[in-house]
Amino acid sequence: MGVALLGIPYDASSSFQRGAARAPAAIRAALASPSTNTWTESLLDVMDGAVLEDAGDVDLTAADSPRAGIEAAVARLLNRGATPLLLGGDHSITYPILRVVRKRHPRLTVLHIDAHPDLYESFQGDPYSHASPFARVLEEGLADRLVQVGIRTMNSHQRAQADRYGVEVVTMRVLAERPWRLESRDPVYLSLDLDGLDPAFVPGISHPEPGGLTTRQVIDLIQSIPTPLVGADLVEYNPDNDVRDLTARVAAKLVKEIVSKMVESPGGDRGRG
Ligand code: MN
Ligand code: MN
Repeated sequence: MGVALLGIPYDASSSFQRGAARAPAAIRAALASPSTNTWTESLLDVMDGAVLEDAGDVDLTAADSPRAGIEAAVARLLNRGATPLLLGGDHSITYPILRVVRKRHPRLTVLHIDAHPDLYESFQGDPYSHASPFARVLEEGLADRLVQVGIRTMNSHQRAQADRYGVEVVTMRVLAERPWRLESRDPVYLSLDLDGLDPAFVPGISHPEPGGLTTRQVIDLIQSIPTPLVGADLVEYNPDNDVRDLTARVAAKLVKEIVSKMVESPGGDRGRG
């Protein structure tokens, strides 16, 4: 069983601008664009149905709550043996996703790429805000390690939260001083907030924060994950702010490289290539 791509068109927990709910459709369109092909850098065709199945979008109107709907949808993918790749949506979706993924992985490292730590105990009165998912994840013990990369908006409250929960924070300043790669013995879940990239590469985001990662740096972070990649989300693309689909194209490229890493065997084979 391969990778299942599932859209989560949810942006109601965004603190500043809505729009991320329209991301899944725009990323799919970029994936299918004839401006490029559908192959990864490891020579895998992601449009091969044995590699990637498009599971459509979650219908959140049918659920008791958006979070319950997300949990149920991700559980359905895992129950049939698929590796879940979730397209947000805002970053609040990571908490319900990890509630489900964690049940399958008694050991789990979460690699979180973002400009922002998203560790607020509560933001604008909302503990489930897109600024708070990793506070919820850590208080519930949903990750053995949380490793945050690309951070450049730390403040005193979130620094205290990071200390309280033992978060490993790799800031942009650290990355500027030395090369860095994830080391892990445990399976990895990747939570990729597009605003971890510099806004020069991804204008279509809601919280542009200058001084960020290049597209190539993020691809390298994905390709160098040392253990099986058992799930991922790609969040915070906002098509309303995009310029000539530049950000959608970056998102589609990252989707392809995430799929490649997911199907790559732990022994180091290059997938089906
Ligand atoms: Mn962010
Ligand atoms: Mn985020």
